[in-house]
Amino acid sequence: MYEKKDKKPANSNAELTSLSDLGEFGLIDRLTRNVKYYHPETLKGIGDDAAVIDAGEKVILLSTDLLVEGIHFDLTYMPFKHLGYKAAVVNISDIAAMNGVPKQMTVSLAVSSRFSAEALDELYAGFIMACDKYKVDLVGGDTSSNVKGLMISVSIIGEAKKEEVVYRSGARTGDLLCVTGDLGSAYIGLLILEREKSVFQVDPSMQPELSGFDYQVGRQLKPEARTDIRNLLLGIGVKPTAMIDISDGLASEILHICKQSGVGCKLFEGKIPMDEHTRELAKEYKIIPSVAALSGGEDYELLFTVKQDDYEKIKEIAEISIIGHMIPSSEGKQMITPDGKSIPITAQGWDGMKAR
Ligand code: ADP
Ligand code: MG
Repeated sequence: MYEKKDKKPANSNAELTSLSDLGEFGLIDRLTRNVKYYHPETLKGIGDDAAVIDAGEKVILLSTDLLVEGIHFDLTYMPFKHLGYKAAVVNISDIAAMNGVPKQMTVSLAVSSRFSAEALDELYAGFIMACDKYKVDLVGGDTSSNVKGLMISVSIIGEAKKEEVVYRSGARTGDLLCVTGDLGSAYIGLLILEREKSVFQVDPSMQPELSGFDYQVGRQLKPEARTDIRNLLLGIGVKPTAMIDISDGLASEILHICKQSGVGCKLFEGKIPMDEHTRELAKEYKIIPSVAALSGGEDYELLFTVKQDDYEKIKEIAEISIIGHMIPSSEGKQMITPDGKSIPITAQGWDGMKAR
C-alpha cells in the first residue's frame, strides 16, 4: 500500500512517492523515462493519442485503452451493450485524433465468475455494433478470469498517409483553437445517472427517471467518435496543426497541446460550445456550466488548432467552434471570462471529477 506523505515508514529511509502526488501524467512520465526506441520506423512513441509507425507508403497508428469496472464504468446503469460500444469508440476516437482512419482492433477481457455468458454476449453485441458503424475489423484479443469485476482492454490500429498525421505538438503562436460539437453533456449525463442510482439504492422499487435527459445520458452511455472530421477538413482544404481528442476534459487536453507544442493559449470561456439544456442542468447541480466542459470529459469531441489563415474556411462550419488562439508560452495558459478577467487554466488531478 502507498503511505501518506506524513506517515513515512518508521524503519525505512526510502521515501515512497504516492501516486496521487504524481498524478496520472506524472506517473506515465516517470515510468517511461528510460524507454528507448530501437527502430527508425517508430516515428512517434509515447506522448500522443496513438503511436505512429512508418509502414512505407503509409503510417500505422497504434493506440490502447483500459476500462476498469468501478473506475471507468458502473454496471448499475451501464448496459453491457453500451459498454462494448463505448470501449470501441474511445479507441476509435484516438485514431480520429491523429487524423487517421481506424482499421483493426483487438479486445481483451478479464472477467469474474459473477458474469454470465449472456451478459458478455451483450458486451460483444456492442463491440460489433461499433465495428459495423465505424468499419473496424475485430481481429483478436485475450480472455482471462479475474478475481473481481470486469476489465476491458482494447487496442486499435489505424492508417494515414505520413503527411496527413496530426500530432499534439504542432500548434504555433497565432494558431486558432477549435473544437468540434459541444462539451460537458457527458459529464452532466453521468451526474444524472449517479443521482438515479442513489435513488434506486434507497428504494429499489423506484424506476430510474431518465426521460427528458436523453441527450446527456446518451452522450455518457453511447458516445460517438468524430471520424467525420477528417473528411470534413479534407473537403475544405484545412489540415490542423495539432489535434487531440477530449477524453479527460477541455482544460486537460488544452494543456497537453500547449505542453507538447511549447506554446500558451487564450481560451474564451464564453465561446465554449455547450448544449443549452446541459447549461441549465449544470446550474441545477450547482456547477458553473463551463466547468462541466473544462473538467468533465468523456465527450470524445476533437480539440485542434489551425493556422490563422484558415479562419475564413473554418468559421462557417457549424460543427466547429473557434474558442481561442495560441500565444507564446511565456504568456501562460489563460481563460478569459465573459467579463474580461484572465484566469489560469488548470487541470483536475488524478482522475479528478471522474473519480467515482
Ligand atoms: P489518451 O488519453 O489519448 O488515451 P493517455 O493520456 O492515456 O492518452 O496516454 C498518454 C500517452 O502515454 C500515450 O502515448 C500512451 O500510449 C502513453 N502511456 C500511457 N500509459 C502508459 C504506460 N503505462 N506505459 C507506456 N506508455 C503509456
Ligand atoms: Mg486521446
